[in-house]
Amino acid sequence: MSDTVNEKGREPSRPDDDFIWEDDMAANVRLLENRWDDGYAAGLDEPGKLLYRSNLLGADKRITNYGGGNTSAKVMETDPLTGGKVKVLWVKGSGGDVGTIKLDGFATLYQDKLESVKGIYKGVEDEDRMVGFLPHCTFNLNARAASIDTPLHGFVPFTHVDHMHPDAIIAIAASKNSRELTQQIFGDEIGWLPWRRPGFQLGLDLGAFVAANPNAKGVVLESHGLFTWADDAKACYELTLDIINKAIVWFAGKTEGKTIFGGAVTQSLAVAERRAIAARLMPEIRGRIGKQERKLGHFDDQDAVLEFVNSKDLRPLGALGTSCPDHFLRTKIRPLIVDFDPAKPDVDAIVAGLDQALEDYRADYARYYNDCKHDNSPAMRDANPVIFLVPGVGMLSFARDKATARIASEFYVNAINVMRGASTVSEYQGLPEQEAFDIEYWLLEEAKLQRMPKPKSLAGRVAFVTGGAGGIGRATAARLVGEGACVVLADIDQAALEGTEADFVKKYGADAVRSVRLDVTQEHAVIAAFVEACVEFGGVDILVSNAGIASSAPIETTELSTWNRNIDILATGYFLVSREAFRLFRRQALGGNVIFVASKNGLAASPNASAYCTAKAAEIHLARCLALEGADAGIRVNTVNPDAVLRGSKIWSGEWREQRAASSKIEVDDLEEHYRKRSMLKLNVFPEDIAEAIYFLASDLSAKSTGNIINVDAGNVQSFTR
Ligand code: NAD
Repeated sequence: MSDTVNEKGREPSRPDDDFIWEDDMAANVRLLENRWDDGYAAGLDEPGKLLYRSNLLGADKRITNYGGGNTSAKVMETDPLTGGKVKVLWVKGSGGDVGTIKLDGFATLYQDKLESVKGIYKGVEDEDRMVGFLPHCTFNLNARAASIDTPLHGFVPFTHVDHMHPDAIIAIAASKNSRELTQQIFGDEIGWLPWRRPGFQLGLDLGAFVAANPNAKGVVLESHGLFTWADDAKACYELTLDIINKAIVWFAGKTEGKTIFGGAVTQSLAVAERRAIAARLMPEIRGRIGKQERKLGHFDDQDAVLEFVNSKDLRPLGALGTSCPDHFLRTKIRPLIVDFDPAKPDVDAIVAGLDQALEDYRADYARYYNDCKHDNSPAMRDANPVIFLVPGVGMLSFARDKATARIASEFYVNAINVMRGASTVSEYQGLPEQEAFDIEYWLLEEAKLQRMPKPKSLAGRVAFVTGGAGGIGRATAARLVGEGACVVLADIDQAALEGTEADFVKKYGADAVRSVRLDVTQEHAVIAAFVEACVEFGGVDILVSNAGIASSAPIETTELSTWNRNIDILATGYFLVSREAFRLFRRQALGGNVIFVASKNGLAASPNASAYCTAKAAEIHLARCLALEGADAGIRVNTVNPDAVLRGSKIWSGEWREQRAASSKIEVDDLEEHYRKRSMLKLNVFPEDIAEAIYFLASDLSAKSTGNIINVDAGNVQSFTR
């Protein structure tokens, strides 16, 4: 295969005689690069090489989508029962992702036992029963469950097998004449098998294909993806790349200069306008589809999406549905196409029509369910759309968590790429409804859903935390994320914000957190920050108003600027963020939750801090007023009053610390102990203690509480509420 490698990386070998291969065009095509490092691979054993190959393949979404496809190797191992050598199939286990899989993500099965299962197979009606025998083939007590794709690897008599979902190959697989195209592009190198749901029978079909075509190096599965095989890990990796690159180059030649999707009938709006419209629409949609189970949103307006949503063929192609099973399991078969003309952008009209559009979508989904269901089909699941396409604007997707919403949108981009290729070179074909249904409501798929862990208490919720880069704000955000919420960290301190966000991404993943630099005293900045939250997550459910400062001075020497600063940040800032949250909560119509982080000093007068104490008292009373106003919409407003939280607090690292020490006539270093002794319970209060009270008020644990105050101050008689 070395003849196909040049200094720019791997280029595919020439497929057939009438193949278009011009240097100029090839230079414009972005080919998959060969990333195999011989030096690195030399130190790996066979399972290690399988892992390496899998991670390399899964790192590029053009090769396979998230969670899609699987890889395997047949490896000689020492049998723990006999001490003899046995052939073991290492194959990606159920539910994994080849891009991020680790060694423990592979199932291991005795190859001979897997082969022996063929003897008890009674035919295609019986194939689901075969899944129950896979655990009996487990090698070495491996707890990783084998997936339904296991026979597809086990029955191909080559050591290494890759099964990928590359857009360029699925575009061939989803073309009306996919068999003919496969032959035209790959000749006898790659075969073709008609659509069949993955399972035991497809494994047998693959085995039979290899027996009948011993020189073939792989096969295109109609409406599904690609299988490739080789007897060496590196050769298998290179073959997979080579085959996909051939398809990429072939498509580039065939689509060059062609009108895509029938051409554009609408034009994209400017970026800012697209985001503004998404921010307006997402909470409206979220409110309408999230009553039973909260949903989070994702917005995507990349070029590939805009080309599709602006096109003449948007409706006819969208209606055909997606093809690859992975695609529609994530995206539902069809998107909801929003009626919108970007030339006369009337967003109010979209909102006014949303109820009807959703009702129509749900009715069509119910029709699909009723037309296709079997006697033993699981009950109909959520009938709401996952993907919303808006001409001129882009794509909105919704799911029970942010990662799932993002991945659904990535999958729809895959589907768009597939439709783009197939409809340009041939006629695009979605999967027939019955086939799609049989996968969507497959009992094995249902069992997988039933095995999923129960969602955490704040799953599907978005929390907006002001002062999120400070001591209490950060601890609160961490507590809420730990309970499944996504957080928007809003803070004026850019450096602290970046640091906190980076830490959160490392600890909780990029989907869980966004940050926005915000001065809570600036009306426009507050409005813009909520727009950001809506575009990034689809809305907000919880506002933790916490950004703050502290100051200390006798009244005679309190500057007007100090007074105003306290009132601006603590009173006006709390007003501005609450007002924006209330506006959003009412549009979203899912209730809402506001927690003010006020202070013991809002209840208890304190010497030499009148500006701070007065502003904190204003916060507490504002919370009570808002509790009254929000109750009819299910919006709860409660207050947490911390006291003397020195650890982690930036307030306590500045001059406030010295002023407080001076006021109590003690050394700065003795402050923590001083406050502990001053408390009734003789305990220090930490940011995590405040976060715990905030979590309680943010969660349904306190569903029947509003207008309340929780003091977290280790006991202070002055701040007892009465
Ligand atoms: P902190 O200084 O560590 O955090 C406060 C955060 O607010 C900082 O990150 C800061 O950058 C941010 N901030 C300040 N002004 C802002 C503005 N205009 N816009 C946006 N963000 C701004 O302090 P902390 O102890 O975590 O305090 C959090 C809240 O708790 C404050 O409201 C404070 O008054 C209150 N509180 C703290 C204590 C305590 O002992 N630490 C006691 C009672 C009340």
